[in-house]
Order: sequence, then C-alpha cells, then structure tokens
Amino acid sequence: MNQEIIKCFNDLLGEEKVRISEPMNRHTTFRIGGPADYFLLPSTAEEVKKILEICKEKELPYFILGNGSNLLVSDEGYCGVIIQLYRNYGGITVEGTNIRAGAGALLSQIASAAKNASLTGFEFAGGIPGTLGGAVVMNAGAYGGEMKNVLKEVTVMTEQGEIMTIPAEKLEMGYRTSLVKKAGYLVLEAVISLKAGDVEEIKAIMKDLTEKRVSKQPLEYPSAGSTFKRPEGYFAGKLIMDAGLRGYQVGGAQVSEKHCGFVINKGNATAADVCGLMKDVQEKVQEQFGVTLEPEVKFLGEF
Ligand SMILES: Cc1cc2nc3c(=O)[nH]c(=O)nc-3n(C[C@H](O)[C@H](O)[C@H](O)COP(=O)(O)OP(=O)(O)OC[C@H]3O[C@@H](n4cnc5c(N)ncnc54)[C@H](O)[C@@H]3O)c2cc1C
Repeated sequence: MNQEIIKCFNDLLGEEKVRISEPMNRHTTFRIGGPADYFLLPSTAEEVKKILEICKEKELPYFILGNGSNLLVSDEGYCGVIIQLYRNYGGITVEGTNIRAGAGALLSQIASAAKNASLTGFEFAGGIPGTLGGAVVMNAGAYGGEMKNVLKEVTVMTEQGEIMTIPAEKLEMGYRTSLVKKAGYLVLEAVISLKAGDVEEIKAIMKDLTEKRVSKQPLEYPSAGSTFKRPEGYFAGKLIMDAGLRGYQVGGAQVSEKHCGFVINKGNATAADVCGLMKDVQEKVQEQFGVTLEPEVKFLGEF
C-alpha cells in the first residue's frame, strides 16, 4: 500500500477512521469478500468531499458502501477506496411528520424512530437490513411499500463534490433503480415523509411483517437477500424452484431450500462459488423457461 496515500487519509480522518487491507467479509451480509486497499469511515460531508478530491488527485477508484447487504465482493477484494457511510454517518431526527436521517442510518433504526414518534408509512422497511443510502439508490421495497412512496427529498454529492438537494418527484425512482444510481451520486441524507398514526397499529404491522420474513426467508444464513430481480410476469424464486434447483450447491454457496430466490452462504462460500452458482441458475432458467434472470446483487471487484 502507498504510504503517502495512507498519510493523506490519516491526516484527514484520524487513524481510527482509516483501515488498510480491510477484509470485506466483515462488511457484507454474505460474509464474503477479500481485502479492500483503503477502508474509510468519514463522518461529515466535508470529509467525504476531501476523500473524493484525494481519490481524483491520486487516480484511485472508490466505492460507496452502506451495510453491504446487497453486495458480492470478489475473493481478491477491491483495489481502491471504500467509503463506508454507516454508523459513522447515521443521525436520525424527527421533524413533525418527517424524519431526516443520514445516509448511514439503518432502515430498522428509522422504522423504530417512526414507531416511537407514532408515524406510519415506514413499517415495510423495518426488516430490510440496509442503510438509508443503499435503500435510496436501490429504491428498496417490500410488502407493497417502496422508498419511492415515502421520500420527500434526498441530499446528494456529485463526483465533483457539489452538494444538492433533489425533491422526490425528480428522483426517477423505478424498480430497484433511481436517478441517484444512474448518475452515480453519493447519498448524504434524506427526508422521509410519513403520516401520524396509532402506535399500537404500527407495532402490529411491524410484528406481522417480521413474522412473515422469519417464516419465509433463510435469515439464519448469511446472504444478500433476493439474488435476482423479479423478471416481468414471473417470480425469480418460483422459476428457480421449478427448474429443479432448490438446494443446488456450488462449493459453500447454495440455493436456499427455504426460499429459492435467496443464495445463501452455507459456511466458507467464496465469491467464486456464489458467482458460479448464479451463472448455473441463470443458464438453467433460460434453457427451461426462456426467461433471463438479472442479478439484483451488486458485484464489486474482479470477477
Ligand atoms: C436478509 C435480507 C433481506 C433483504 N430484503 C430486502 C427487501 O425486502 N427489499 C429490498 O429492496 N432489499 C432487500 N434486501 C437487499 C438490501 O438490504 C437492500 O438492497 C438495501 O437497500 C441495501 O442497502 P445497503 O446499505 O446494505 O447497501 P450496500 O449493499 O452497501 O450497497 C448497495 C448499493 O448501494 C450503493 N450505496 C450504498 N450506500 C450509498 C450511499 N450513501 N450513496 C450512494 N450509493 C450508496 C452501493 O454503492 C451499492 O451500489 C435484503 C437483503 C438481505 C440480506
């Protein structure tokens, strides 16, 4: 690793917020991934801006990480800078019926803050294990709800370090996509607009959705949630099951027996195992049903 670059980051953030050769299996819900050259934990927009400047000057590629719950990192890791916006960037404030939160706030924490303030509309997101930033980029959704329906505005930083606030109607939110994703913006903060509700009803909805997740999803194993996007007119999990792939395994990676839409890490799975399994699944589903499965999971590093 380059000592001059390490010094730049240490001077900017302090050594406790800079990690070198950081194993990415510690930062992904798949528990998979080799080392990242530089792993940074900024806590202000100013720090983020300066990191982007250093990356530009030193010609270093960078990647914004939330909770790594939709991510497969290569076994060789990532040659570049990981900028994680997580606990270090996760303040939550209730403002009337709105909630303002930093990109690193977990959706579960925001759902809990909404419940405590008797605000309804965010119950759907309580069980999605991502950060607000990741959820905005992906337009995360579940059980009939999606980020699109609750976002009021999003504050982003461009690659050039310019900060701007975009109102919801200009965010071009679609199925697992958004303007933020297309333009490669970095999400700093967002405001969620909810409605006054009844705390007991909110609790009951959240309990019901948690029970649904626990009974249907293989939460006892590391995974990245739904591996493939929902192809129009079909369900990925059902196609995979109908192709006879329930429990299909490559190395330590397996098509979950509980929910075929999930690829799970049965223990010591490598990124190569997951990737190989995904290719086999795509081929078999294409062959049998003529349907193309597109990955929902993001890939980082060399594959
Ligand atoms: C058990 C399980 C269940 C799941 N259930 C659901 C579900 O019901 N619905 C659903 O939609 N998803 C679900 N997911 C997938 C995942 O939780 C979501 O996609 C989530 O929004 C990803 O957030 P993250 O912070 O983990 O993002 P990461 O995985 O860290 O990153 C995902 C993408 O977002 C980008 N990103 C992250 N933060 C920022 C930021 N601040 N600015 C710019 N870009 C950023 C990354 O660069 C990357 O491209 C599930 C995952 C698991 C493991």
